[in-house]
Amino acid sequence: MAKEKKLVEAITSMNEDFAQWYTDVVKKAELCDYTSVKGFMAIKPYGYAIWENIQHELDRRFKATGVQNVAMPMFIPESLLDKEKDHVEGFAPEVAWVTHGGLTELPERMCVRPTSETLFCDFYSRDIHSYRDLPRVYNQWCSVVRWEKETRPFLRTREFLWQEGHTAHATAEEAEERTIQMLNVYADFCEEILAIPVLKGVKTDKEKFAGAVSTYTIEALMHDGKALQSGTSHNFGDGFAKAFDVTFADKDNKIKHVYQTSWGMTTRIIGALIMVHGDDSGLVLPPRIAPTQVTVIPIAAHKEGVMDKAYALKEELAKNFRTTIDDSDKGPGFKFAEAEMRGIPVRIEVGPKDIEAGQAVIVRRDTREKITVSFEELSAKVGEILETMQKEMLERARAHRDAHTYTATNYEEFKDILANKPGFVKAMWCGDRACEDKVKEELSATSRCMPFEQEELSDVCVCCGKKAKKMVVWGKAY
Ligand code: AMP
Ligand code: ZN
Repeated sequence: MAKEKKLVEAITSMNEDFAQWYTDVVKKAELCDYTSVKGFMAIKPYGYAIWENIQHELDRRFKATGVQNVAMPMFIPESLLDKEKDHVEGFAPEVAWVTHGGLTELPERMCVRPTSETLFCDFYSRDIHSYRDLPRVYNQWCSVVRWEKETRPFLRTREFLWQEGHTAHATAEEAEERTIQMLNVYADFCEEILAIPVLKGVKTDKEKFAGAVSTYTIEALMHDGKALQSGTSHNFGDGFAKAFDVTFADKDNKIKHVYQTSWGMTTRIIGALIMVHGDDSGLVLPPRIAPTQVTVIPIAAHKEGVMDKAYALKEELAKNFRTTIDDSDKGPGFKFAEAEMRGIPVRIEVGPKDIEAGQAVIVRRDTREKITVSFEELSAKVGEILETMQKEMLERARAHRDAHTYTATNYEEFKDILANKPGFVKAMWCGDRACEDKVKEELSATSRCMPFEQEELSDVCVCCGKKAKKMVVWGKAY
């Protein structure tokens, strides 16, 4: 029993220290581990299984919109990176360089891709000739390297896994349409599969991607009231095409530059899953993304007939759900705690008394509600519970976000909210970079986005009092 309790006691309470709670969950749920490579993590099987489900679902949604997968090189020669001025300025501080091939110094150093716009442009400049080649809607699943100063498992690592979509179009309108379309794919995926409500909007110039005309973002609110940029979609106009000479012969026989987009989602989103849904017993996974949706835990496993029945139930449930059985020799209390730590949506408890009564107990991970059902009804009931749980997790997360979204109409109010009430703050902005810089400097907050759904809270900027142009959602972010 001492050992069984230890697993539960070992995690820090989220109210006591949220950052430590996060680290504890990541380790105890066996999602990833630190390595000897500073800032780089080892993703363990359970964490990787979540990533595979994310990949699978996103990839399916991408392909439904006509996306094709490809693979580009992992290195970028310096001269290629240098071609687009804003892009290189933005990324230069965080790229890693390769200077040698074997023992020989390279004539030109190459960086490890921090993102692949330059590689796709180089490729497209050879690949696209005529309007018949457009649009190109390519994506790659890979890892990239950005030399981050401070790292956190999943949220900010020096190497991260992601997908990066890169498209080329004949017109500016089509590129803009694709940029928004992919943002919507991300937003729908987050809400429908991860049960994470997101705020859609456009980044200010200060926060937009290096080289983009506009950057669209989905912003999610974590349990501690901090924001997380959860996915981005960029419209490049024809800026990259001009820098890389990506042209096509149009129907009118004129040579024109293409219009481009890119969009990415990373392993960071696993951090969002942890921080939106987790609790003091560990991870809570929405059923649609959980690697294991149901786990069967035998009680008094040594008693006759218990294991047989547990295996039979597992077999039956596995027809409809991702199901496991914990047939290890650990005690039931330990197994419960472990299943909870891993956020498995439901567990089925079955012991000698249940077998006698022809029933099993279903325990919901999120509410801990216990439901006793007959063996005949078990599978149908589990299906019902998983659906309800998926729906209620999204509702709870949305209620939490709404309850932590505030409005400020003057600087005093703004300052007070940012200092005392973690969450999103809606406020009007004049459009000047100076006000954003001041908010960052004085209040440690950043503009998360200018939401698509604008409101007119007042007609003056919350910061300087000049005429307001846009409503911005501000927050402290990961
Ligand atoms: P970007 O290419 O800069 O638009 O980044 C695409 C997405 O990657 C962002 O929306 C972030 O959610 C995520 N991201 C950026 N840096 C990191 C990092 N160091 N580790 C994990 N995810 C990241
Ligand atoms: Zn202002």
